[in-house]
Amino acid sequence: MNLILMGLPGAGKGTQAEQIVEQYHIPHISTGDMFRTAIKEGTELGLKAKSFMDQGQLVPDEVTIGIVRERLGKDDCKKGFLLDGFPRTVAQAEALEDLLNQLERTLDYVLHIHVDQGLLMDRLTGRRICKNCGSTYHLEFNPPAVEGVCDKCGGELYQRDDDNAETVGNRLDVNTKQMKPLLDFYQGKGYLRTINGQQDIHDVFADINGYLEGISK
Ligand code: AMP
Repeated sequence: MNLILMGLPGAGKGTQAEQIVEQYHIPHISTGDMFRTAIKEGTELGLKAKSFMDQGQLVPDEVTIGIVRERLGKDDCKKGFLLDGFPRTVAQAEALEDLLNQLERTLDYVLHIHVDQGLLMDRLTGRRICKNCGSTYHLEFNPPAVEGVCDKCGGELYQRDDDNAETVGNRLDVNTKQMKPLLDFYQGKGYLRTINGQQDIHDVFADINGYLEGISK
């Protein structure tokens, strides 16, 4: 089962990715996570990626494609993979196609979780995170029992710097522009499946499952 997961920030990709990998036992390959780990570990890759990430820019294609090539070559990817955050450019999508050809594999689906930008704005600006344990809440959709206090550990809740309205608006615009050519690319190749991300979390997963159950690999 060879999958790509796409969606704007706040569309619920993380939640759905967790459920997909749990149900289908395929590795979740997030290039953002790989870069963050590399930075934490102080590896050469981390050093290369850090300056770009700090400025909110994409890490150069040759670096990003290189780590994905290496990762997809590992044994645990033989039964499939869920790519998240990759590809981000058409050049990356084309490189992925070459790579899969070399591995004699093909994509099954590109799952695109769609949520209207106005709703994403509400979701992202209402997000609150526990300083202590990192649990996330939402003022409207998932509020803590006591305002400003984490249900799980009693820690203080805060709003991430980049979750304010202006920054969120910019982030959504940039991501929408980045994603459009990729959606067109995969639509043209027949891989794209758009899922309504404005439903209940379980219904979003049920829709995804509807596609995945049909894949026998
Ligand atoms: P993410 O966690 O997916 O939002 O990624 C965090 C950051 O990692 C991005 O802002 C980029 O700087 C970098 N990054 C992640 N995936 C890619 C990619 N496919 N191509 C280029 N840069 C990436």
